[in-house]
Amino acid sequence: MKHKHCEWCDTQFIAKVSYQIYCSVGCRELATKEKIAERYAIARRSRLSKKNRTCKACGSKLSVYNDEELCQSCVINPKDVKKALKEIKDILNEKDS
Ligand SMILES: [Zn+2]
Ligand SMILES: [Zn+2]
Repeated sequence: MKHKHCEWCDTQFIAKVSYQIYCSVGCRELATKEKIAERYAIARRSRLSKKNRTCKACGSKLSVYNDEELCQSCVINPKDVKKALKEIKDILNEKDS
């Protein structure tokens, strides 16, 4: 048995399990709710800060829902370019052999 202070209301309590940090279910629920609200606030803030992000390649504005550092067309294009280059190489190789 260990005496602990509740992380929510600071009441001293006897912990039944070593990882117990709240004196009661009520305190745990309140603390959990606050944590969720906090996380939501952080997520909201980071979403707002995303508003001013621009594409690393072409500098155009990025969508708030785009988590990439590149805009939609820049994400797709490099792959297409690579594929096209490979196709050209293949054609050239065929001619050589
Ligand atoms: Zn408590
Ligand atoms: Zn771009």
